[in-house]
Amino acid sequence: MSATPRSVTRLIEELCRLPGIGPKTGSRLAYFLLRAPAEQAFSLAEAIRQVKERTVLCSACFNIAESSPCAICSDPNRDPSLICVVEEPLDVLAIERTRQYHGLYHVLHGAISPVEGIGPEELKIRELLARARNGIVREVLLATNPNLEGEATAMYIARQLLPLGVRVTRLARGLPIGGDLEYADEVTLAQALEGRREI
Ligand SMILES: [Zn+2]
Repeated sequence: MSATPRSVTRLIEELCRLPGIGPKTGSRLAYFLLRAPAEQAFSLAEAIRQVKERTVLCSACFNIAESSPCAICSDPNRDPSLICVVEEPLDVLAIERTRQYHGLYHVLHGAISPVEGIGPEELKIRELLARARNGIVREVLLATNPNLEGEATAMYIARQLLPLGVRVTRLARGLPIGGDLEYADEVTLAQALEGRREI
């Protein structure tokens, strides 16, 4: 018979479902929360509830937002002729931090990965192609991660876009190969945006 109360085991199990959390870290976090003041634990629970209740995917760019269209898509100072394609919402934040980009975004929610069984249909690629046909878009900047999946995804999308007559560009090299856009430093990322090249 286990000496651990069922509610504690449940919390550990839930924490272990988070990325990067193994049984050891899960237990540590659970016992941290057990010992923490009740307000702190409830505040975490409430933050999780709110993020699920209050956020939506923007119907245009598929970024996570509290309204649809999102603040970026509805900003009149943004250039609607330029779309930057990224894998994840966190990549939008990374590019926004550079303050060098003034176009719109399109979040794919992943990258093509045959190993993980993720094909183009699982991503927001069809929606991107529809946007690229709207007559306003002149350039699509492919800012997928500089790793195998990101490159494959960029190449796949480029092949679909080129017949539409829009300019297709890719971030300049210089980003750490195999790395994640969200971890790139602002200066490197700003340079990669600046030096983007035609595909
Ligand atoms: Zn949007």
